[in-house]
Formats: sequence, structure tokens, C-alpha cells
Amino acid sequence: MAEGSLEAPVRHPLDWQNPEFYDMAAIEKEMHRIFDICHGCRRCFNLCDSFPRLFDLADNSPTGELDAVDPKDYKPVVDACTLCDLCFMTKCPYVPPHEFNLDFPHLMLRYRAAEFAQGKTDKVAQALTHTDRNGKLGSLVAPIANWATDRNNAVTRPMLQAMAGVAREAELPKYAVQTFQQQALDAPKVNRNAPGFGRKAVLYATCFVEFHDPGIGLAARAILAHNGVETEVAYPACCGMPQLEAGNIADVAERARTVSQALKRYIDEGYEVIALVPSCALMLKFEWPLILPDDPDVKRLAEHTSDISEYIVAIAKKEGLAPGLAALPGGVTVHIACHARAQNMGQKASELLRLIPDTKIDVVERCSGHGGSWGVMEGNFEVALKVGRPVARSAINNENPFVASECPLAAPHILQGIEKLAGDAPLPTHAHPVELFARAYGLVAG
Ligand code: SF4
Ligand code: SF4
Repeated sequence: MAEGSLEAPVRHPLDWQNPEFYDMAAIEKEMHRIFDICHGCRRCFNLCDSFPRLFDLADNSPTGELDAVDPKDYKPVVDACTLCDLCFMTKCPYVPPHEFNLDFPHLMLRYRAAEFAQGKTDKVAQALTHTDRNGKLGSLVAPIANWATDRNNAVTRPMLQAMAGVAREAELPKYAVQTFQQQALDAPKVNRNAPGFGRKAVLYATCFVEFHDPGIGLAARAILAHNGVETEVAYPACCGMPQLEAGNIADVAERARTVSQALKRYIDEGYEVIALVPSCALMLKFEWPLILPDDPDVKRLAEHTSDISEYIVAIAKKEGLAPGLAALPGGVTVHIACHARAQNMGQKASELLRLIPDTKIDVVERCSGHGGSWGVMEGNFEVALKVGRPVARSAINNENPFVASECPLAAPHILQGIEKLAGDAPLPTHAHPVELFARAYGLVAG
């Protein structure tokens, strides 16, 4: 086997408008080619459940090789992929420009797109992808929705599992009574004496912060105002990561057009765009330009988008931060989310937290196992906990009172993993890194 490429990885645009993209026979042929390379390589054996499933298929076949495996049996390998991108970004030496041209996550995506085109995608999984519709409805009836989806509710959760396949034990995001945009009507007063004064940024709220956890957005806005940054809040639509996971690429393309056109005027006026969730930042920066490579608004948005931790760390490096940070009591275990790693920007969440003086920071850089709506489904929840067990174990060993992750789904999932391993021991508090940073500034209570 040829040695891996030493050049920076390149990702090819997705050929999703070509009918050949959805041809299952062609997809299975390509899967066989790529799976055979992986079978010989095995570097990714512990990244997720997809690779163990693939290697078991080959090892348990009559010849011990993939030639003896029916391509129809490849589906469980695809089903276990959360599209975290870690194999492509961190392990694989055979990604383009290497001649093997190996992009494992995009092959899994192509298979799902073909299933979606054939109407084979699970209807409940599809319903879960409608984050804007669900978020608007859930926020309107937040107390009832939160009661019904609470995992301690012994009446509704078994029903939800039986009717919709949502794992009874899985922690589900709570709905906010007031959305981030409703709470962000009054911009915080900008500190004109801060070194970063003069910067302007628009916060792309993301469906999660808009409908579930406005506290992340409020914390980000308070930190930025304290550091002299004038901010606006915008939320034209969800970035479409859930639709991407379901293989509905045309829907993602439509969202990319809508959001990039809506944010264009801010960029024209000198604002940078900040995405508050790493999966959404990854979509704006990397996935959308691969889906619509010829769209100038999408390209320009990608060039002007930052992840929130990346943006604050950039202020610290370039102009310097406004004073006022004080130590957090105890330490923080910071989980580096897969979609933050996939942005190829370094460990910005840990760099951010290390700016807080006299505070112990322990970093865990492994997949939490959650995988968006994938991890809450009945057939996946136990696998999601298994994949995340090393992260939970590290958090227990670190004995810190805080667990932070930029991924707002990963953090509660890690806590569920800790709960399983540590039994009745007191659980750490989970928070987004910017919430802890705002706390260290004394900008939020706690
Ligand atoms: S993208 Fe993530 S989940 Fe999918 S195969 Fe690669 S490492 Fe596994
Ligand atoms: S994705 Fe690349 S690194 Fe991972 S097992 Fe396959 S060939 Fe090896």
C-alpha cells in the first residue's frame, strides 16, 4: 500500500446534482474500493462504531476478506456513522490529494443521500430534522414540552420510545420559553475602552441557541460587548446539519442560499459572522461551499465566518482582552467537539479557557458519541454511550466541578455517561466554554 500523502487534505465538492451520485450500484462499488483500503489500514478502529462494524464484516466472512461480503450488508456501517469527520480530518493518510482519493464521511453521506432519494429514510428521523418548526412549536408550549420530554417522566417517555423510537433514557434538549432573538432585543453596552473596540460581529444564533439555550448567546454577547465588539443577532434559518445527516442535500443547499443571502448585508457593512455552535460553523465554513461551490454569497460567507471561541481567542492574540477575568473555583474538563476539530483551527475552546487565570484546564479530545439526533434514537443510544465512555471516564478522573463542550449536545451526553459509570456520585456542572468565560468575567451569575 502506498504511503499517505504529506500534503494538506483537500475536499472535493459534492457531486449531488449528478444522477450518478444516487446510483446504488456505483455507490456499492466505491464502498467496496474504500472499505478494502480501510480493512488493510485499520487506523480508525477506535474512532466510532462504523469501523468495528466494517472490520467485523470482513473478519467474519468465509475468506476473511471483503470479497466474500455482500454489499447489502454494508448498511450497518453507514448507520453507525455520525458524520463527525474525525476519520477524514485527523487519521486518514489517503485523503485527497492522495491518489486513493478517500473521503469516508462523504461516502457515507452519498449512501444516505441515495437512500433519501429512494424514500427509505426513517420518517421519525426526518421529523427530528425539522429543528426550526419543532423549535418554534416547542418554545410556544415550553413548560408542557419540557415536562413531556423529561427523561424522568415515566408516562410520556416510554410512549415516545414506542411511537417514535426515541430512546427512553436519552436526555433531550429543553425548550426555552423565550428565544435568543427575543431575549437579545437590547444590545449590551459596548466597552469603548477595550482594546478590541471597533470590531463588529453578527451572531448567527443557530437553532440550538435560538430555541433551546439562549444563555450561550447571551454569554457570548456580553463577553464581546465587554471587549469592545458591537454585535447584532440574526437567525434566518437552521444551517441544515440535521438534513445533511439524513441525506437531504437539496434542502441543505436551499438553506445555504437563504442564510448566505440574509447575512450578506452584514458582511457588506463590515461585520464578521460568528456561529455559536461548532457543527453550524463547520457547515457555513466548509460543507456549504462543497455543496454550492459556484455560489458567490456562500463563498463570501465562508470567508467571513468564525467559531465563537476562535473569534474571542483572535481578539486576545491580536488586540488583547479587556481586563477582569478571575479564577473559576475548581477546574474545568474541556471536551473538544468533533466538529470543532474538523474546522482545522486548533483547540480553540481550551485556548479560550486557558486565558482564565489560575484555573486548572484538562482537555479531552475524543468523540462524545452523541452524533446529533442520531444518538437519541433507541437503536443508537447504547452505542452512543459506548463510544463516549472514554470521555466520561476522563472527566471522572479529572475530578473537576465543570465539564465544558462547545457542542451543546455533547456536554449533557457526557454527563449521562458519567452518571452510568459513577452511579450516585455528585455530577459536575456542564456548560458551554463561553458561559464559563462570562462567569470568569463576572458577567453572568454563578
Ligand atoms: S465520520 Fe466519524 S462516525 Fe463517520 S466513520 Fe468517520 S470517524 Fe466514524
Ligand atoms: S479512513 Fe483512512 S485512516 Fe481510517 S481506516 Fe480507512 S484508510 Fe485507514
